[in-house]
Parts: sequence; C-alpha cells; structure tokens
Amino acid sequence: MLDKVLIANRGEIALRIHRACKEMGINTVAVHSTADENAMHVRLADEAVCIGPPSSANSYLNIAAILSAANITSADAIHPGIGFLSENSQFAEMVEELGLAFIGPTAEHINLMGDKITAKQKAVEIGLPVVPGSNGAVETPAEAEAFAAEVGFPVIIKATAGGGGRGMQIAHCAEDLPDALNMCRQEAGAAFGNDSVYVEKLLLQPRHIEVQVMGDGNGLVVHFGERDCSLQRRHQKVLEEAPSPAIDSATRQRIGETVTKALAKIRYRSAGTVEFLYENGEFYFIEMNTRLQVEHPITEMITGYDLVRAQLRVAAGKGLGYTQKDIPLMGHAIECRINAENPVTFAPSPGKVIDYHAPGGLGVRVDSAIYAGYTVPPHYDSLVAKLIVHGRNRELCLMRLRRTLDEIVVGGIDTTIALHQRLMDVPEFTSGEYDIHWLEQWLESELQNS
Ligand code: ADP
Repeated sequence: MLDKVLIANRGEIALRIHRACKEMGINTVAVHSTADENAMHVRLADEAVCIGPPSSANSYLNIAAILSAANITSADAIHPGIGFLSENSQFAEMVEELGLAFIGPTAEHINLMGDKITAKQKAVEIGLPVVPGSNGAVETPAEAEAFAAEVGFPVIIKATAGGGGRGMQIAHCAEDLPDALNMCRQEAGAAFGNDSVYVEKLLLQPRHIEVQVMGDGNGLVVHFGERDCSLQRRHQKVLEEAPSPAIDSATRQRIGETVTKALAKIRYRSAGTVEFLYENGEFYFIEMNTRLQVEHPITEMITGYDLVRAQLRVAAGKGLGYTQKDIPLMGHAIECRINAENPVTFAPSPGKVIDYHAPGGLGVRVDSAIYAGYTVPPHYDSLVAKLIVHGRNRELCLMRLRRTLDEIVVGGIDTTIALHQRLMDVPEFTSGEYDIHWLEQWLESELQNS
C-alpha cells in the first residue's frame, strides 16, 4: 500500500484527495504557493511544502519544485488532481522515472488522448463512434472546404491541443472558412503553443454526455454510468447531473459496454472520462480526459463508490476489487459549480469570505476548501465550492437542491449561487429538456428582459 502521497494541486480538489488518503490510512503532503499559505489543504495535510510564488507557472506547474518536495518528504506517490500537471505526460513520466507512483494513467495514454487528432484516430481504431470530420489536421481553407463539403455546413474548427473550451470557431458556409481557420489557429497558437487545427461537423442540438471509467491497467475496465454536462456557458460546465435525463437504461448499457470494451483494448489505467455529444440517439466521441473530473462527485453519489480511493488502490497495485456487476446506479445527483463570479456578468470576484455556511442533511455533500475569513486569491480558477445533492429520483433531487441553495451562505464575495437559484424555476431546466446551447440562450434572453 502507499504510505505517503504528495498532492500536486490546491483548493477543493486537493482537499478531496486528502480525504480519500486519510480514510485509507495514507499520510499526505500538501504543496502550495505563497498565496495559499493559509489554505485548507495546507492546514489539514500531514506535511506541507511551499513550492513558489503565486503565479501557477512558478508554483503548481513547477515540475522541479514539486519533484523536490516529493523527494525531501519521501513521498511514494503523486496525485496530480485536476488541471495543472494532471494531463502533462512528461510530468507523469518523470514521476515514474523517480520510482514514485503516478496516480493516473500511463504517460503514453495521457499523450495519446491529450492531442485531439491522435485521440480521435485511436477512438476510431478501438471502436468508439466519432463526430464526422477531417480526423486529421487541415492546413488550407481549400482542404477545410473539402471536408466541410463532405460532412455539410455548419462546421466547427477546433484546436488539436485545445482544452477548457478554448480554440474553437464555427463556419456556417465556405465564405466563413478562411477567417474561422485563421482565428482558430491564432487562438490555439497563443493559448496552447500549437496552432494545428481540424474540422468537425457542428452538431446543432446535442447534449454533452460523458462516461466515467476506471481501469486497473491490466485489462479490466468498468464504467460508472454517465453524466450530463449540457448546461454550459462558453463551453464551460455550470451544472451537471447523473444519470442524464435523456438516456434510458438500454442506451446506457450500450454506450457503457462500447466504452469499457474500447478502453480494455488499450489496458487503460486509473480514472478517465470519455466525452460524447449525443444527438438523435447517437453518440459522437469528442475527447477523453485522462484524469479525475470536477464533476466526479455526482457519479460517486449515484454509485456509492469513491473514485479517488479506486485511483489510490490501482496506483498501489491492488486492483479495483470489484467488477461491473458490483456497480449499482441509484437515484439521481446534481452538482452546482459555485464560482467566485458575479452571477449576472460573470466578472471574477476574488476577495475575503466574511461569512460561510455549508448546507447539510440527507443526501447533501459540499466539496469546498473555503472558510469564513479565507481570502480567495485572484491567481487561480474561480471555483470555490461544489454543491452536490442526491435524491431517490430527479424530482426529489431537485427539491433538495432548491432547499440547499437557499441554505448555503458565502458572504463577502460574489458567487454564482444566485444563478443556480434562478435556474431552479426555469421549466426547460426542471423538465431536463435542454441541449448544450440552451443555457447561453436563456442567459441572453434574461439579459434582454432585465
Ligand atoms: P475542450 O477540450 O475545450 O473541453 P471539447 O472538444 O470537449 O473541448 O468541446 C467542448 C464543448 O464544445 C462541447 O461540450 C460542446 O459544447 C462544444 N463542441 C465541441 N465539438 C462540437 C461539435 N462538433 N458540434 C457542436 N458542439 C461542439
């Protein structure tokens, strides 16, 4: 078993990983920037090492500082969390070269899935349905046009190295292509240091459905059902639910089997999420995230399994300890992402939290690292809390969500709690009949009516 795990992350996810470690009797090492000296993950960890100044580039992305911290504390494994170095294959490789366990997939799989073109090609090869498109990089408008003609307009130009909803441009007709191509290339070059792009058919009213998997690295891969993450603003998830209101059990079984069979072929290890767009009863692979996801708790709520615990077991070479038939899907869960942002303009709102109260009661979970008196630093992601509720069915889950949104208090900074409260009264949301564009359209209409 592992004795000591270094958690190379911050905020609620660092705390989430710390909690799983403690429940398994594993000691934890927190690393932190100077801006996070008073952070909860630092306070609770068994040991803490300062790895640099506030900017992520010099702290949470500083591989040398993190590896040194692991060395001086004699950690035997590193959990990269979400974001930061979690999908950096070079980091994963260096961790293993030092003889430590990397709590995640192999560097080879991170690399494969980190590039959207190689990921899509591999997806086709292992039997996953993909969005029709170029399936390879395109260079010129003429090339793009040839693919667009094949799949039909509108199309979406996407950055090969894209992530976080950035590096995407839509072209409605051939005339749009040269500009869309240029803009996407520029954005991709600036954001990812790689200006390679490809073309995909733009699905008009899809839902975003993702399947959570866990592999033992020896060919056993199980799935934990799907999550529906269609409520998005600027391609960023706002609220997620599991199971999807749009998927019946036969469809769930079909896609679950397809995904587990595909990933067993590559002997996938640790947690992963296969993301699809879902339209007219068909799934189209868009990407695979080779790490834990922000929204993993809703899956834990409907299955009762601790996904971080599973990651730790696999990293320790103990395997999963269960198979597909042991994974039940029970009831319904929803997660609201609570960001330190204005709930109308979405302007960031870092600063001091003067009042904090987390709701509780049956079926309620709050994953957060904030406390009254804590100052949300301006340097990082704006996510400050995740409110997760579970109910025996979607209706009960929604009633509970409404109740907890009225109970939670985060004072002193603006948060998106009020946005979630407004959503609770909108029939398109409560009925579950929404696609990936609906939230933005509704926000737009709200602005116009105000
Ligand atoms: P990222 O890696 O930046 O998250 P994804 O490929 O996962 O990028 O896409 C993010 C979101 O962009 C999707 O959830 C969806 O809303 C939209 N999107 C991506 N590809 C398409 C497509 N072919 N048609 C329509 N929408 C798309």
